[in-house]
Amino acid sequence: MIRTQSVKSVAQLMSTPHVARALRFFETHADAITEEQIRICSIPASPFGEQERAEYLSRKFAELGLTEVEIDEEGNCLGLLRGSSRAPLIVVSAHLDTVFSKDTNFEVVRRSNKLFAPGISDDGCGLVALLALAQAIQAEQIPIEGSILFVGTVGEEGEGNLRGVRHLFTKGRWAKHVDAFVSFDGPGMDRITNRALGSRRYRVEVSGPGGHSWGDFGLPNPVHAIGRAISRLAGYPAPKEPRTTFNVGHIEGGRSVNAIPSEAAMEVDLRSAAEAELQRLDAFFRRAVRDAVDEENARRRAGDSLLKLKLDLIGERPTGETPPGSPLVELAMEATKLLGVEPRLDQSSTDSNLPISLGIPAITLGAGGTSGSSHSLDEWYDPRGRDLGLKRGLLVILGIVM
Ligand SMILES: [Zn+2]
Repeated sequence: MIRTQSVKSVAQLMSTPHVARALRFFETHADAITEEQIRICSIPASPFGEQERAEYLSRKFAELGLTEVEIDEEGNCLGLLRGSSRAPLIVVSAHLDTVFSKDTNFEVVRRSNKLFAPGISDDGCGLVALLALAQAIQAEQIPIEGSILFVGTVGEEGEGNLRGVRHLFTKGRWAKHVDAFVSFDGPGMDRITNRALGSRRYRVEVSGPGGHSWGDFGLPNPVHAIGRAISRLAGYPAPKEPRTTFNVGHIEGGRSVNAIPSEAAMEVDLRSAAEAELQRLDAFFRRAVRDAVDEENARRRAGDSLLKLKLDLIGERPTGETPPGSPLVELAMEATKLLGVEPRLDQSSTDSNLPISLGIPAITLGAGGTSGSSHSLDEWYDPRGRDLGLKRGLLVILGIVM
């Protein structure tokens, strides 16, 4: 755990000569940092396909003099910057994966001030921040007391379901030793994500005998059952506060206009800013699906077989918060203000969800610069102002370990 009295004030840090030089490092090395970002983002990284990028990052970790460099069983790449003691131990992370499939063209194109590539910002700017931060600390030989574990995580995006960070905090060899967690995800300078947005994701499959639309009319119909379930969910009175949302994002089923389908499926995303609301919505949804299938079955002809329901939880992200008064959040607020920017506390779904759910102080920060069209093939990143994000990151990390 981090204790308030052991956290350095940001003003105190900024007046230390080593630190002041490390802060300038991000300005004098701006072009080199951008070149490195281009190299990282040119390496394909899809969900469950992060290995090549992890290998590249671990080579960089080793070159920077980090120790205990490894790729763990889940595929995360780790490197330790050891202080005079192992504690406090802060994890500084960014995610290796993108939302794009492995056949995507990851080539980075530069047009005036902007870099274009899938994942260039999310989370290319976070990954390069890890290297830049480690490099600045090493180059200026900043003496640190605690230790910093740099981690490129796998599986932050949708299908990954936080598998990398989950492994790190539950099964990995550092699991019980982490005192604080900071992840860099995307651009920007004002955002401090201290609240975890929880979600549950389901895949629903309904199957039945199937038959002819005219000749077998009266057989229970899986598409009709899914339709009944969607209609129930769509009527759910989701509160605006705490913000609660649902989405049927994908449906499939059936083959022909004149055949009663033998199967239908849908994928559903449920979210809420509050755990109690998420549970309420979750219970409503599961009941709605069962009732919908029962209703369709109740209309079948005597002797027809029943529809079968398969309901799978395919994703779960915990809700929670690192309180605004915690030393880590206060440190990030103070650093943001001293760099001339008004901080904004925020709620989102990031790698921080996991440590937050375990009671470990965790925040997600922007890594500076600006971006647009995130999660699309036109994603871009503009590195101007990146140094501010890196300076803030460095001050937060040093506030914990110096
Ligand atoms: Zn991201």
